[in-house]
Amino acid sequence: KLTSREFHPENTVVDVDGVKIGDGSMTMMAGPCSIESLEQIRECARIAKAGGATILRGGAFKPRTSPYAFQGLEEEGLKYIRQAADEFDMKVITEVMDEAHIDMIAEYSDILQIGARNMQNFKLLQAVGKTGKPIGLKRGISGTIDEWLNAAEYIAAQGNFNVIFIERGIRTYETATRNTLDLSAVPLIKKLSHFPIIVDPSHGVGIWDLVPSMARAGVAAGADGLIVEIHPDPINAWSDGPQSLNEKTYMRMMKEVHIIEKAM
Ligand code: PEP
Ligand code: MN
Repeated sequence: KLTSREFHPENTVVDVDGVKIGDGSMTMMAGPCSIESLEQIRECARIAKAGGATILRGGAFKPRTSPYAFQGLEEEGLKYIRQAADEFDMKVITEVMDEAHIDMIAEYSDILQIGARNMQNFKLLQAVGKTGKPIGLKRGISGTIDEWLNAAEYIAAQGNFNVIFIERGIRTYETATRNTLDLSAVPLIKKLSHFPIIVDPSHGVGIWDLVPSMARAGVAAGADGLIVEIHPDPINAWSDGPQSLNEKTYMRMMKEVHIIEKAM
């Protein structure tokens, strides 16, 4: 398989327009769950950058459990995140939910994110694969390692070797946390595949004050980076406020994360 370590023994470094993922240094992605306004995403970019992030995250097309919940600002949001990222010299990652939106989103975003709910949307995987763009591939909510590797294979089979695995927790019997963050996926994916893997502790636990611990653990486990949700005012966030870090907590977490990175 194209995704396997056997096929390609060396680590693949994904080059996001100059920002390298999987080159041995840690890549930090941070930003809000949803893009809410130009002002909000600019403030998130400022905070993210101050903590050392080089990639700005933010959803414009949101896969919400309820059809009545905020669904995202769509193209207007994409314009805002691109503007904010450019102002702070950052790259953009945002989710693609629908094949029909790929070309439009690709105009604004440097990385296309495949959400957990679409890990096995095979037509979507093939279509994003065809773009040749870096793809952030979240692990499915109940995705096994083997299914996740096969999802990456769908992208690689299109000739796209710019896959970034994102461990974001899986559904288990435990309900005290939003998901169960499977940190063993980090060394296991590194053993089985040459593609980089980053950790999303925010969706992994769903509770903001547990996020820094799991971020540190992710780096210690050997992750190539982190993707974390931040918000200038988490209580009033339009989505995922309970797991979003405010500026102070994010900055403290990044200090700790950098200490662990240096010790590795
Ligand atoms: C997100 O990144 O905001 C998101 C919806 O994540 P996931 O697909 O992992 O649930
Ligand atoms: Mn979210």
